[in-house]
Amino acid sequence: MKTRVFYNEKMKKWFEGVEDQGVIYPEVDPFHTVFRFADNVYSLYEENVTGGSAMWMHLIDGPEKALLVDTGAGIGDLKGLVRKLIGDKELYVVNTHEHWDHVFGNYQFDRVWCHPYAVPWITDNYMRPDVWDRFLDENGRGLKRDFVREDFIKFRNYALFVCGEGDSFDLGDGYRLEVIYTPGHASGGISVLDPQSRILFTGGMHSDNTVISGVNKYYPNECTIAAFLRGLERLESGYSGRFDRIFAGHEIVPLDASYIRDEIQACRDVLADHGCCEASWDTGNGLMYRHMVGEAGIRFTDRSFGE
Ligand SMILES: [Zn+2]
Ligand SMILES: [Zn+2]
Repeated sequence: MKTRVFYNEKMKKWFEGVEDQGVIYPEVDPFHTVFRFADNVYSLYEENVTGGSAMWMHLIDGPEKALLVDTGAGIGDLKGLVRKLIGDKELYVVNTHEHWDHVFGNYQFDRVWCHPYAVPWITDNYMRPDVWDRFLDENGRGLKRDFVREDFIKFRNYALFVCGEGDSFDLGDGYRLEVIYTPGHASGGISVLDPQSRILFTGGMHSDNTVISGVNKYYPNECTIAAFLRGLERLESGYSGRFDRIFAGHEIVPLDASYIRDEIQACRDVLADHGCCEASWDTGNGLMYRHMVGEAGIRFTDRSFGE
């Protein structure tokens, strides 16, 4: 996947401004570009295998251990790249939520943590060797992008552990990362707070297009605008003042912490007036709406208001 695909012109312009800071280690893994937006964080950029919005994994390199936030689509040798960056340091792996573009790389690790509400989706839908078939034609070549079946990792079972609000990952020497429950984009949504580096890793909440689909057969009430707002308000009331920057799972990195306030306002606007949006379009599966406040915004459907 030599060509870059961008979600919009704003993202393209931003990426072209930072691209020369990115490093690719083609002998290990040609599919990820490594950036350093903070001293002890490696941000790994992965082109989206469906041609959609590219995604980020973030590797927090602590004093004794490291934490990998999300695992991407399972393309390339992410594990080899992580070892190249942190050596044989002990590694935790966590999923910010249950969507495929954040968890299909899990099979190369022995143990992965996620929120309890992400577990049924992952175990029912993704614990099977054919998960990548959806991206491939009958000859094993990419449907939307330039790759082949062999570019993906091999399927292997792994152990799923749970973490939720109030849990933490201890990276040694007092370096603790805190888990915060932030549903809305997905039922099993978490953010990870690094109070030492004053960074919040948000996974599914990002840039100006956080999607609140309102669709989840396991925990539908956790995929609504109201649920997303609850998580944002928890961040604002319990954690504001402890982070300055947001490292998301898609689009521009970093975002300023003030982005949370604008997202809260966007949710409140829409809940007060369901017709509040600047744009709408047909996805083929119903209408999608967008409402923005400053640089922040949400995308939602008629189902995003819950039952
Ligand atoms: Zn995603
Ligand atoms: Zn997602």
